[in-house]
This record gives sequence, structure tokens and C-alpha cells, in this order.
Amino acid sequence: MELWCSEHQTQDVQLSARIRSTLFSGKSEFQEVMVVDSFEFGRMLVLDGVFQTSIFDEFIYHEMIAHVPLHIHPNPRKVLVIGGGDGGSVREIVKHPAVENVELVEIDGLVVEVSKKYLPEISSALIENHPKLRVNIGDGIQRMKAAKSEYDVIIVDCSDPIGPGEGLFTYSFYQNVYKALKPDGLFVQQTESPFYHQPLIKKLHKDIQSLFPITELYLAQIPLYPGGLHSFTIGSKKYDSKSVNIEKILDLPYRYYNKDVQQSCFILPNFIKNIIA
Ligand code: SAM
Repeated sequence: MELWCSEHQTQDVQLSARIRSTLFSGKSEFQEVMVVDSFEFGRMLVLDGVFQTSIFDEFIYHEMIAHVPLHIHPNPRKVLVIGGGDGGSVREIVKHPAVENVELVEIDGLVVEVSKKYLPEISSALIENHPKLRVNIGDGIQRMKAAKSEYDVIIVDCSDPIGPGEGLFTYSFYQNVYKALKPDGLFVQQTESPFYHQPLIKKLHKDIQSLFPITELYLAQIPLYPGGLHSFTIGSKKYDSKSVNIEKILDLPYRYYNKDVQQSCFILPNFIKNIIA
């Protein structure tokens, strides 16, 4: 008998992956946590039935959420990640030469434990207790309320705006992110699909724009995520995508990111320009 794992990407669209087996299935205080081994995407983390990351294409999301903002800031020494309990973002962030320390605030300890056990390629920095990295199991919303002028870069590597991630897409959260950043700091958030989440993108872009002098959206092609095209939104106090010194970008063995992508990911088709106009 064939086994399939499906995500409702919208009420009327599903993505289904044929799977070999379920490696883990459990329930935390916050959500249902699953790891499945699929034929097309390899091992995948699934939270409340939503595909979070896969061995097949995780490099795209993690390189793009980390290296694009880290290269816009000229000296990102202190970085915070909210969410990202699979460890993929911090694996990328610790590679950046200017980064001295990274704090990861993930609400669900089970996501961290399961990722370390079943997704070691993604969670390598967590497994090796990377010296730049500190992991806190807690709520990113509360962390932002308490922080003041602490971080150069904040990366909101969150799940969808339902369940524990809901408050990470609100105006009051962005106010606290602004407060938590240093005077020249910037933040980035994964902001879902430009095909299926247009009202959300429009709303949060407006919220961020009303707080930050610079707001920019960039894109990456990610087969696992709804519509195959994913958006990220930056709120920045000082630096924008055009201020990057491209020649300073190191030629590390990235699989998706490079100097050209750093610039081209900000080029938007008209229907997306219209969403945020
Ligand atoms: N790459 C993924 C995507 O776009 O689908 C997101 C990956 S990561 C697994 C998202 C993480 O955010 C989850 O592990 C979830 O537990 C965490 N999270 C959700 N709400 C949070 C909150 N309020 N504070 C900290 N972490 C949170």
C-alpha cells in the first residue's frame, strides 16, 4: 500500500508527497510534530500538518533567510533568530565571518530535539554546540518585549501565522523588533507565498513600512512551499539592498546564494510590486 503525506496549502490545493515511512510522530505543548521520509523531498519536518523543511530543498530557504540580510548589514556581530528550531538558519549564520554570537529562541523544545535526531544535516550547528550559538527554549514574542537596542540583525524564521507563530505577524511584534534592534539594525521575516498570501503580505508590509525607514521584499524559488515561490520581508533602520558591497561577499560553497542572487532576488514582477505598492 502506498503511503502519502499531504499539506493543505490552501482550502482548495494540496501538496502530497509519497513517503517511505514516518520516522517520528508526537505532540508537544504547542503543536503536532512529525518527521517523514519521502521519496521526492527526502526527510521532512511537518508541524501541524504543514511542511516546514525538507532535505531536498532546505538549502534555498536557509541560505536566503540568512545570507541576504547578513550581507546588507556591514557588520552583523550580534544576531537573533526567532523560531528556526530545525537549526538550518543558524547553520548558515555561524558561517558569516562578522558574526560573533547568535541566539536562537525557539518556542518548542521538541522541534529542536527531533531535528537533532532525524535531520542532522540541517541541525549540525545545534548538534555540535557551535561556539557562536546559544539556544533558548522560549517565546520569541516575549523575548522581543524584553529586548532593547541589542541586536544588529534579527531573523524571524517562523511557521505560518496560526498557532504559536500568529503573534509574530502583528504590528505590536514589529514595534518590539524595532526596539530590540541597534540604531542601525535590520530584521528579516519569512512572509509566505506571493501567490496565496497576498492580503497578509500587504498588511505586514504596511505595518513594517510605518515603523522602519526601509522596507524591502525579496524572493526565492522553493518547491516545497505553496506556489513554489517564497517571499521574505526586510525592515531596516539604515541599510538597504543597494548599499551592499558585492565585491566583499565571500565565495563560500553556497548552493543557491551568490553575489548575483544577492542583487537579483530584489527584482520583483509587477503583480508582486502591486501587492506592496
Ligand atoms: N522554514 C519554515 C517555514 O517557512 O515553514 C519555518 C521553520 S521553523 C521549523 C519555524 C519554527 O517557529 C517552529 O519550530 C515553531 O515552533 C517556531 N515558532 C512558532 N512560534 C514561535 C514563537 N512565538 N516563538 C519562537 N518560536 C516560534
